[in-house]
Amino acid sequence: MAKSPETEHPQKAIGWAARDNTGTFSPFHFSRRETGADDVTIKILFCGICHSDLHCARNEWGVTNYPIVPGHEIVGTVTKVGNNVSKFKEGDKVGVGVLVASCQKCESCQQGLENYCPNMILTYNSIDRDGTKTYGGYSDLIVVDQHYVLRFPDNMPLDAGAPLLCAGITVYSPMKYYGMTEPGKHLGVAGLGGLGHVAVKIGKAFGLKVTVISTSPKKESEAISKLGADAFLVSSDPAKVKAAMGTMDYIIDTVSAVHSLAPLLGLLKVNGKLVTVGLPEKPLEVPIFALVGARRLVGGSNVGGMKETQEMLDFCAKHNIAADIELVRMDQINTAMERLAKSDVKYRFVIDVGNSKLQ
Ligand code: NAP
Ligand code: ZN
Repeated sequence: MAKSPETEHPQKAIGWAARDNTGTFSPFHFSRRETGADDVTIKILFCGICHSDLHCARNEWGVTNYPIVPGHEIVGTVTKVGNNVSKFKEGDKVGVGVLVASCQKCESCQQGLENYCPNMILTYNSIDRDGTKTYGGYSDLIVVDQHYVLRFPDNMPLDAGAPLLCAGITVYSPMKYYGMTEPGKHLGVAGLGGLGHVAVKIGKAFGLKVTVISTSPKKESEAISKLGADAFLVSSDPAKVKAAMGTMDYIIDTVSAVHSLAPLLGLLKVNGKLVTVGLPEKPLEVPIFALVGARRLVGGSNVGGMKETQEMLDFCAKHNIAADIELVRMDQINTAMERLAKSDVKYRFVIDVGNSKLQ
Protein backbone atom coordinates (compact mmCIF):
# COMPACT_ATOMS: atom_id res chain seq x y z
CA MET A 1 0.00 0.00 0.00
CA ALA A 2 1.27 3.51 -0.82
CA LYS A 3 2.41 5.47 2.20
CA SER A 4 0.58 8.59 3.24
CA PRO A 5 2.04 12.07 2.56
CA GLU A 6 2.73 12.27 6.28
CA THR A 7 4.87 9.13 6.51
CA GLU A 8 6.40 8.65 3.05
CA HIS A 9 9.54 10.63 3.97
CA PRO A 10 11.51 11.09 7.20
CA GLN A 11 11.34 14.89 7.65
CA LYS A 12 8.02 16.10 9.09
CA ALA A 13 6.49 19.13 7.40
CA ILE A 14 3.35 21.16 7.72
CA GLY A 15 1.75 23.36 5.13
CA TRP A 16 -1.62 24.59 3.96
CA ALA A 17 -3.32 22.65 1.19
CA ALA A 18 -6.35 22.99 -1.06
CA ARG A 19 -8.22 19.69 -1.28
CA ASP A 20 -10.76 20.36 -4.04
CA ASN A 21 -11.66 22.94 -6.67
CA THR A 22 -13.22 25.34 -4.18
CA GLY A 23 -9.54 26.15 -3.59
CA THR A 24 -10.10 26.48 0.15
CA PHE A 25 -6.92 26.12 2.19
CA SER A 26 -6.47 24.39 5.54
CA PRO A 27 -3.54 22.85 7.46
CA PHE A 28 -1.93 19.75 5.94
CA HIS A 29 0.62 17.44 7.53
CA PHE A 30 3.09 15.84 5.14
CA SER A 31 6.80 15.02 4.93
CA ARG A 32 9.95 15.87 3.00
CA ARG A 33 12.72 13.55 1.79
CA GLU A 34 15.95 13.16 3.76
CA THR A 35 18.61 15.71 2.77
CA GLY A 36 20.42 13.87 -0.06
CA ALA A 37 24.05 14.37 -1.10
CA ASP A 38 23.14 17.17 -3.55
CA ASP A 39 20.29 18.58 -1.49
CA VAL A 40 19.75 21.72 0.49
CA THR A 41 17.13 21.76 3.25
CA ILE A 42 15.52 25.15 3.71
CA LYS A 43 13.48 26.58 6.56
CA ILE A 44 10.89 28.64 4.70
CA LEU A 45 10.46 32.22 5.93
CA PHE A 46 8.41 33.83 3.15
CA CYS A 47 6.43 32.67 0.15
CA GLY A 48 4.73 34.85 -2.47
CA ILE A 49 1.21 34.08 -3.72
CA CYS A 50 1.32 33.89 -7.52
CA HIS A 51 -1.86 33.88 -9.61
CA SER A 52 -0.71 30.46 -10.88
CA ASP A 53 -1.23 29.20 -7.30
CA LEU A 54 -4.83 30.38 -7.55
CA HIS A 55 -5.35 28.85 -11.03
CA CYS A 56 -4.01 25.53 -9.65
CA ALA A 57 -5.82 25.60 -6.30
CA ARG A 58 -9.12 26.00 -8.18
CA ASN A 59 -8.10 23.55 -10.92
CA GLU A 60 -8.65 26.19 -13.60
CA TRP A 61 -6.10 24.51 -15.88
CA GLY A 62 -7.59 21.04 -15.30
CA VAL A 63 -4.29 19.50 -14.14
CA THR A 64 -4.48 19.76 -10.35
CA ASN A 65 -3.70 16.66 -8.33
CA TYR A 66 -5.24 17.30 -4.87
CA PRO A 67 -4.26 17.87 -2.15
CA ILE A 68 -2.11 20.70 -3.44
CA VAL A 69 0.32 22.85 -1.44
CA PRO A 70 1.20 25.69 -3.84
CA GLY A 71 3.97 28.25 -3.52
CA HIS A 72 6.93 28.84 -5.85
CA GLU A 73 8.27 32.16 -4.63
CA ILE A 74 10.13 30.71 -1.67
CA VAL A 75 12.72 32.42 0.50
CA GLY A 76 14.33 30.92 3.57
CA THR A 77 17.49 29.92 5.38
CA VAL A 78 19.54 26.81 4.79
CA THR A 79 19.34 24.41 7.73
CA LYS A 80 21.14 21.37 6.29
CA VAL A 81 23.26 20.56 3.24
CA GLY A 82 24.27 17.25 1.68
CA ASN A 83 27.89 16.06 1.25
CA ASN A 84 28.22 17.20 -2.36
CA VAL A 85 26.87 20.69 -1.72
CA SER A 86 29.51 23.35 -2.22
CA LYS A 87 27.35 26.31 -3.25
CA PHE A 88 25.55 26.74 0.08
CA LYS A 89 26.09 26.37 3.80
CA GLU A 90 23.91 26.40 6.88
CA GLY A 91 22.46 29.84 7.58
CA ASP A 92 22.62 31.10 3.97
CA LYS A 93 19.62 33.06 2.69
CA VAL A 94 18.30 31.32 -0.40
CA GLY A 95 15.40 31.22 -2.81
CA VAL A 96 13.49 28.55 -4.73
CA GLY A 97 11.31 29.34 -7.73
CA VAL A 98 9.05 27.41 -10.07
CA LEU A 99 11.18 24.31 -10.72
CA VAL A 100 13.03 21.88 -8.49
CA ALA A 101 14.47 19.41 -11.02
CA SER A 102 15.00 18.76 -14.74
CA CYS A 103 16.71 16.04 -16.79
CA GLN A 104 20.08 17.88 -17.14
CA LYS A 105 20.64 16.08 -20.46
CA CYS A 106 18.30 17.55 -23.05
CA GLU A 107 19.14 20.43 -25.35
CA SER A 108 17.21 22.89 -23.18
CA CYS A 109 18.95 21.83 -19.97
CA GLN A 110 22.35 22.00 -21.65
CA GLN A 111 21.63 25.59 -22.66
CA GLY A 112 20.63 26.55 -19.13
CA LEU A 113 16.97 26.54 -20.14
CA GLU A 114 15.85 24.03 -17.53
CA ASN A 115 12.49 25.81 -17.64
CA TYR A 116 11.86 24.28 -21.08
CA CYS A 117 13.04 20.75 -20.22
CA PRO A 118 10.25 18.33 -21.16
CA ASN A 119 10.94 16.43 -17.93
CA MET A 120 11.22 19.35 -15.53
CA ILE A 121 9.69 18.89 -12.12
CA LEU A 122 7.70 21.80 -10.79
CA THR A 123 7.95 22.95 -7.21
CA TYR A 124 4.37 21.81 -6.59
CA ASN A 125 1.75 19.64 -8.31
CA SER A 126 4.41 17.50 -10.03
CA ILE A 127 5.62 13.95 -9.51
CA ASP A 128 9.17 13.90 -8.17
CA ARG A 129 11.89 11.45 -9.26
CA ASP A 130 11.05 9.11 -6.38
CA GLY A 131 7.40 8.93 -7.45
CA THR A 132 6.06 11.13 -4.65
CA LYS A 133 4.25 14.42 -5.16
CA THR A 134 5.95 17.78 -4.90
CA TYR A 135 4.56 20.28 -2.43
CA GLY A 136 5.42 23.96 -2.55
CA GLY A 137 6.22 26.87 -0.30
CA TYR A 138 3.01 27.31 1.67
CA SER A 139 4.83 25.15 4.21
CA ASP A 140 7.57 25.23 6.80
CA LEU A 141 10.43 23.46 5.02
CA ILE A 142 11.56 22.19 1.65
CA VAL A 143 14.38 19.99 0.33
CA VAL A 144 15.78 20.97 -3.06
CA ASP A 145 18.73 19.91 -5.23
CA GLN A 146 21.36 22.66 -4.99
CA HIS A 147 21.24 23.31 -8.76
CA TYR A 148 17.69 24.69 -8.36
CA VAL A 149 18.46 26.86 -5.32
CA LEU A 150 19.22 30.57 -5.80
CA ARG A 151 21.56 32.72 -3.76
CA PHE A 152 19.60 35.59 -2.28
CA PRO A 153 21.50 38.88 -2.60
CA ASP A 154 22.53 40.44 0.75
CA ASN A 155 20.78 43.76 0.22
CA MET A 156 17.52 42.22 -1.02
CA PRO A 157 14.65 42.23 1.51
CA LEU A 158 13.60 38.63 2.08
CA ASP A 159 9.85 39.30 2.03
CA ALA A 160 9.64 41.78 -0.85
CA GLY A 161 12.32 39.90 -2.79
CA ALA A 162 10.42 36.60 -2.72
CA PRO A 163 8.08 37.45 -5.65
CA LEU A 164 11.06 37.95 -7.94
CA LEU A 165 11.54 34.17 -7.95
CA CYS A 166 8.52 33.77 -10.21
CA ALA A 167 7.07 37.19 -11.10
CA GLY A 168 10.52 38.73 -11.56
CA ILE A 169 12.09 36.08 -13.78
CA THR A 170 8.87 35.63 -15.79
CA VAL A 171 9.05 39.20 -17.04
CA TYR A 172 12.85 39.58 -17.10
CA SER A 173 13.52 36.51 -19.25
CA PRO A 174 11.31 37.45 -22.24
CA MET A 175 12.52 41.04 -22.13
CA LYS A 176 16.07 39.76 -22.56
CA TYR A 177 15.29 36.99 -25.07
CA TYR A 178 13.01 39.01 -27.35
CA GLY A 179 15.29 42.06 -27.28
CA MET A 180 12.90 44.30 -25.38
CA THR A 181 15.57 46.21 -23.49
CA GLU A 182 16.73 48.96 -25.83
CA PRO A 183 16.84 52.19 -23.79
CA GLY A 184 14.31 54.79 -24.89
CA LYS A 185 11.96 52.28 -26.51
CA HIS A 186 8.33 52.16 -25.42
CA LEU A 187 7.09 49.16 -23.39
CA GLY A 188 3.43 48.52 -22.62
CA VAL A 189 2.67 46.37 -19.57
CA ALA A 190 -0.80 44.83 -19.74
CA GLY A 191 -2.23 43.94 -16.29
CA LEU A 192 -0.89 45.64 -13.19
CA GLY A 193 -0.71 42.73 -10.78
CA GLY A 194 2.20 40.73 -9.37
CA LEU A 195 3.99 40.20 -12.69
CA GLY A 196 2.95 43.52 -14.18
CA HIS A 197 4.22 45.77 -11.41
CA VAL A 198 7.63 44.06 -11.45
CA ALA A 199 7.70 44.44 -15.25
CA VAL A 200 7.22 48.19 -14.80
CA LYS A 201 10.21 48.38 -12.43
CA ILE A 202 12.46 46.18 -14.57
CA GLY A 203 11.43 48.08 -17.70
CA LYS A 204 12.42 51.36 -16.07
CA ALA A 205 15.75 49.85 -14.97
CA PHE A 206 16.44 48.97 -18.63
CA GLY A 207 15.79 52.61 -19.52
CA LEU A 208 12.47 52.07 -21.30
CA LYS A 209 9.46 54.35 -21.45
CA VAL A 210 6.76 52.32 -19.70
CA THR A 211 2.99 52.57 -20.12
CA VAL A 212 0.68 50.47 -17.99
CA ILE A 213 -2.37 49.08 -19.81
CA SER A 214 -4.97 48.32 -17.16
CA THR A 215 -8.65 47.65 -16.49
CA SER A 216 -8.37 49.38 -13.09
CA PRO A 217 -8.43 53.21 -13.25
CA LYS A 218 -7.86 53.37 -9.49
CA LYS A 219 -4.33 51.98 -9.93
CA GLU A 220 -3.27 54.98 -12.04
CA SER A 221 -1.82 57.46 -9.58
CA GLU A 222 0.28 54.91 -7.71
CA ALA A 223 1.49 53.30 -10.93
CA ILE A 224 3.06 56.59 -11.82
CA SER A 225 4.07 58.01 -8.45
CA LYS A 226 5.18 54.80 -6.72
CA LEU A 227 6.08 52.29 -9.40
CA GLY A 228 7.66 54.78 -11.79
CA ALA A 229 5.50 54.20 -14.88
CA ASP A 230 5.54 57.03 -17.41
CA ALA A 231 1.92 56.69 -18.49
CA PHE A 232 -1.27 54.77 -17.70
CA LEU A 233 -3.81 53.64 -20.23
CA VAL A 234 -7.22 52.49 -19.07
CA SER A 235 -8.13 49.82 -21.59
CA SER A 236 -11.84 50.69 -21.44
CA ASP A 237 -11.26 54.33 -22.47
CA PRO A 238 -11.71 54.34 -26.29
CA ALA A 239 -10.43 57.88 -26.87
CA LYS A 240 -7.18 57.30 -25.00
CA VAL A 241 -6.68 53.86 -26.54
CA LYS A 242 -7.16 55.38 -29.99
CA ALA A 243 -4.59 58.08 -29.27
CA ALA A 244 -2.08 55.42 -28.16
CA MET A 245 -2.47 53.21 -31.28
CA GLY A 246 0.79 52.41 -33.01
CA THR A 247 2.99 53.98 -30.29
CA MET A 248 4.55 50.99 -28.53
CA ASP A 249 7.61 48.95 -29.47
CA TYR A 250 6.92 46.08 -27.09
CA ILE A 251 4.10 44.81 -24.89
CA ILE A 252 4.35 42.29 -22.11
CA ASP A 253 0.92 40.80 -21.46
CA THR A 254 0.47 39.51 -17.89
CA VAL A 255 -3.33 39.31 -17.91
CA SER A 256 -4.58 36.24 -16.04
CA ALA A 257 -8.03 36.05 -17.65
CA VAL A 258 -9.28 35.44 -21.19
CA HIS A 259 -9.02 38.70 -23.14
CA SER A 260 -8.73 39.92 -26.69
CA LEU A 261 -5.25 40.46 -28.14
CA ALA A 262 -6.48 42.71 -30.97
CA PRO A 263 -6.57 45.98 -28.97
CA LEU A 264 -3.09 45.26 -27.58
CA LEU A 265 -1.65 44.51 -31.03
CA GLY A 266 -3.15 47.77 -32.27
CA LEU A 267 -1.03 49.67 -29.74
CA LEU A 268 2.16 48.31 -31.31
CA LYS A 269 4.20 50.00 -34.01
CA VAL A 270 5.19 48.19 -37.20
CA ASN A 271 7.60 45.38 -36.15
CA GLY A 272 6.25 45.57 -32.59
CA LYS A 273 6.46 42.57 -30.27
CA LEU A 274 3.78 41.29 -27.92
CA VAL A 275 4.92 38.69 -25.41
CA THR A 276 2.23 36.88 -23.48
CA VAL A 277 3.16 35.41 -20.11
CA GLY A 278 -0.33 35.27 -18.56
CA LEU A 279 -1.95 31.84 -18.60
CA PRO A 280 -5.74 32.22 -18.85
CA GLU A 281 -7.76 29.04 -18.53
CA LYS A 282 -8.88 29.09 -22.19
CA PRO A 283 -6.90 29.76 -25.40
CA LEU A 284 -6.74 33.28 -26.84
CA GLU A 285 -7.47 34.02 -30.48
CA VAL A 286 -4.65 35.33 -32.65
CA PRO A 287 -5.97 38.27 -34.73
CA ILE A 288 -4.02 37.45 -37.83
CA PHE A 289 -4.63 40.68 -39.78
CA ALA A 290 -3.16 42.76 -36.94
CA LEU A 291 0.00 40.64 -37.15
CA VAL A 292 0.38 40.32 -40.89
CA GLY A 293 -0.51 43.94 -41.63
CA ALA A 294 2.35 45.37 -39.55
CA ARG A 295 4.93 42.56 -39.34
CA ARG A 296 4.18 42.19 -35.65
CA LEU A 297 5.14 39.23 -33.54
CA VAL A 298 3.36 37.37 -30.74
CA GLY A 299 5.55 35.25 -28.47
CA GLY A 300 5.33 33.41 -25.20
CA SER A 301 7.69 32.71 -22.34
CA ASN A 302 7.79 30.49 -19.25
CA VAL A 303 9.72 31.68 -16.17
CA GLY A 304 13.49 31.33 -16.79
CA GLY A 305 16.47 29.00 -16.35
CA MET A 306 18.54 28.81 -13.18
CA LYS A 307 21.48 30.88 -14.42
CA GLU A 308 19.21 33.61 -15.73
CA THR A 309 17.15 33.59 -12.53
CA GLN A 310 20.32 34.26 -10.52
CA GLU A 311 21.26 36.99 -13.02
CA MET A 312 17.80 38.56 -12.58
CA LEU A 313 18.09 38.52 -8.77
CA ASP A 314 21.50 40.20 -8.96
CA PHE A 315 20.17 42.73 -11.50
CA CYS A 316 17.23 43.57 -9.20
CA ALA A 317 19.54 43.87 -6.18
CA LYS A 318 21.76 46.26 -8.12
CA HIS A 319 18.81 48.40 -9.17
CA ASN A 320 17.05 48.22 -5.78
CA ILE A 321 14.09 46.41 -7.31
CA ALA A 322 11.79 44.34 -5.13
CA ALA A 323 8.05 43.75 -5.18
CA ASP A 324 5.46 45.96 -3.47
CA ILE A 325 3.85 43.50 -1.13
CA GLU A 326 1.06 42.92 1.34
CA LEU A 327 2.34 40.59 4.03
CA VAL A 328 -0.21 38.03 5.28
CA ARG A 329 -0.17 35.14 7.74
CA MET A 330 -0.83 31.60 6.59
CA ASP A 331 -4.33 31.62 8.11
CA GLN A 332 -5.20 34.60 5.89
CA ILE A 333 -4.56 32.76 2.60
CA ASN A 334 -8.24 32.18 1.85
CA THR A 335 -9.02 35.90 2.07
CA ALA A 336 -5.90 36.74 0.09
CA MET A 337 -6.97 34.35 -2.70
CA GLU A 338 -10.44 35.92 -2.84
CA ARG A 339 -8.87 39.34 -3.21
CA LEU A 340 -6.32 38.13 -5.79
CA ALA A 341 -9.18 36.76 -7.91
CA LYS A 342 -10.60 40.31 -7.98
CA SER A 343 -7.24 41.95 -8.90
CA ASP A 344 -7.36 43.57 -5.45
CA VAL A 345 -3.76 43.37 -4.28
CA LYS A 346 -0.93 45.87 -4.15
CA TYR A 347 0.75 44.12 -5.81
CA ARG A 348 1.75 40.76 -4.41
CA PHE A 349 0.63 38.90 -1.31
CA VAL A 350 3.53 37.31 0.53
CA ILE A 351 2.96 34.80 3.31
CA ASP A 352 5.02 35.46 6.42
CA VAL A 353 5.55 31.74 6.91
CA GLY A 354 8.16 32.17 9.65
CA ASN A 355 5.75 34.11 11.86
CA SER A 356 2.59 32.12 11.10
CA LYS A 357 0.97 29.51 13.28
CA LEU A 358 0.67 26.66 10.79
CA GLN A 359 -1.92 24.49 12.51
P1 NAP B 1 -2.28 38.99 -10.82
O1 NAP B 1 -1.46 39.57 -9.74
O2 NAP B 1 -3.67 38.55 -10.52
O3 NAP B 1 -2.30 40.08 -12.01
C1 NAP B 1 -3.04 39.87 -13.19
C2 NAP B 1 -3.60 41.21 -13.65
O4 NAP B 1 -4.34 40.98 -14.85
C3 NAP B 1 -4.59 41.84 -12.72
O5 NAP B 1 -4.01 42.58 -11.67
C4 NAP B 1 -5.38 42.74 -13.64
O6 NAP B 1 -4.65 43.95 -13.86
C5 NAP B 1 -5.35 41.97 -14.96
N1 NAP B 1 -6.63 41.30 -15.19
C6 NAP B 1 -7.24 40.38 -14.39
N2 NAP B 1 -8.41 39.98 -14.94
C7 NAP B 1 -8.53 40.65 -16.09
C8 NAP B 1 -9.51 40.66 -17.12
N3 NAP B 1 -10.62 39.91 -17.05
N4 NAP B 1 -9.30 41.45 -18.19
C9 NAP B 1 -8.21 42.22 -18.29
N5 NAP B 1 -7.25 42.27 -17.31
C10 NAP B 1 -7.41 41.49 -16.26
O7 NAP B 1 -1.57 37.74 -11.48
P2 NAP B 1 0.00 37.42 -11.65
O8 NAP B 1 0.46 36.63 -10.49
O9 NAP B 1 0.70 38.64 -12.04
O10 NAP B 1 -0.05 36.39 -12.87
C11 NAP B 1 -0.58 36.80 -14.12
C12 NAP B 1 -0.74 35.62 -15.06
O11 NAP B 1 0.56 35.13 -15.39
C13 NAP B 1 -1.48 34.43 -14.45
O12 NAP B 1 -2.29 33.85 -15.48
C14 NAP B 1 -0.37 33.47 -14.05
O13 NAP B 1 -0.79 32.14 -14.01
C15 NAP B 1 0.60 33.72 -15.16
N6 NAP B 1 2.01 33.37 -14.87
C16 NAP B 1 2.75 32.91 -15.91
C17 NAP B 1 4.08 32.61 -15.72
C18 NAP B 1 4.92 32.16 -16.86
O14 NAP B 1 6.01 31.63 -16.64
N7 NAP B 1 4.52 32.39 -18.09
C19 NAP B 1 4.65 32.78 -14.45
C20 NAP B 1 3.87 33.29 -13.43
C21 NAP B 1 2.54 33.59 -13.65
P3 NAP B 1 -5.41 45.37 -13.96
O15 NAP B 1 -6.15 45.51 -12.68
O16 NAP B 1 -4.27 46.32 -14.09
O17 NAP B 1 -6.26 45.30 -15.18
ZN1 ZN C 1 4.23 31.98 -10.37
